[in-house]
Amino acid sequence: METDVQHRQKSPLHEWFNVKSEPFTIAGPCSAESEEQVMETSRRLVETGRVSVIRAGVWKPRTRPNSFEGIGSPALPWLNRVQKELNTPVATEVANAQHVEYCLKAGIDVLWLGARTTVNPFYVQEIAEALKGVDIPVLVKNPIHADLGLWVGALERLQKTGVKKLAAIHRGFFTENHATFRNEPKWELSFALRAEAPDVPIICDPSHIAGKRDLIEQVSQTALDINLDGLMIESHITPDKALSDPKQQLVPEDLGSMMERLIIRSAEPRNELAHDLLDKLRGQIDTLDEELVNTLFKRMEVVDQIGSVKVDNEISIFQMDRWFEILAKRGLQGKNLDLNPALIQEIFQIIHKYSVDRQNEVFKKNS
Ligand code: PEP
Ligand code: MN
Repeated sequence: METDVQHRQKSPLHEWFNVKSEPFTIAGPCSAESEEQVMETSRRLVETGRVSVIRAGVWKPRTRPNSFEGIGSPALPWLNRVQKELNTPVATEVANAQHVEYCLKAGIDVLWLGARTTVNPFYVQEIAEALKGVDIPVLVKNPIHADLGLWVGALERLQKTGVKKLAAIHRGFFTENHATFRNEPKWELSFALRAEAPDVPIICDPSHIAGKRDLIEQVSQTALDINLDGLMIESHITPDKALSDPKQQLVPEDLGSMMERLIIRSAEPRNELAHDLLDKLRGQIDTLDEELVNTLFKRMEVVDQIGSVKVDNEISIFQMDRWFEILAKRGLQGKNLDLNPALIQEIFQIIHKYSVDRQNEVFKKNS
């Protein structure tokens, strides 16, 4: 099924690969394990009609040693078979200049830098230099931790050595808490990247964000709803037997049917009525935001007064009991209003941090 894309802003990805289907999708196994596995997965993915580029990791950067570290360059000819027999471009991960050389020699169509490489400017620079004068798309995954500078920096290094077809991959960020996601999405980082590099398309990797099959569809839908430009999804013919990332790969047919269910919404309202309604509601948001900032201002004035009382009476700035009391009171209020408890917790942590800073200022001035 070809989806109507006229209301959605097209990203350059469609142009680079000369494809029309929405969303732009890269799919394939986490790792190339055998020629048969690569061919069978790719054939079945291409048959869904929803996949424009096949991915497969040839060199696998693994967090712990003694895990499967990829087949290495002997797997490159398998990707060449995909190119020839299925007439589909192929992508793989490069982590150093030698990987780049092997890939260029083999005629791999697309390269990506993994999260563990983006964190290291030395490796990024080495890869950028190995790519001088080469005109193939290069995709940069976000670094493991939520450091926008490293992500932008890697894109800049590649841009500086002349790579023109650059895209980012949002694969989520390290989290201590794995209850929901393997890697916390922190969507705000992709908004920040958009602001810094508006021309760089952003592809979402829901497999590495979700870490589990059941969550891939929901993460993909969110990515489309915030207007990211494409998806990179891991797929395996027998996911449970995969040598890497077994829990987050979909069998090709499940990936195809999931793609059919994804809803593509337009970035801008399609009719006058929706436009007016949105304008009105945004007006209400602006008023509420103004009140919020005014309330914060008034709160800080009281914080200053509390600071003075503490200085005058030689009381320390931070009282643990009072802090827990604030969290408990606002937590309960939020709960009664059916607000996400994390929202209240995080907002009050920030407010509290700045209140402590403010009282510190009062202490400095009076001592
Ligand atoms: C991968 O795409 O299989 C991979 C290793 O991803 P990341 O660099 O995002 O961990
Ligand atoms: Mn993987």
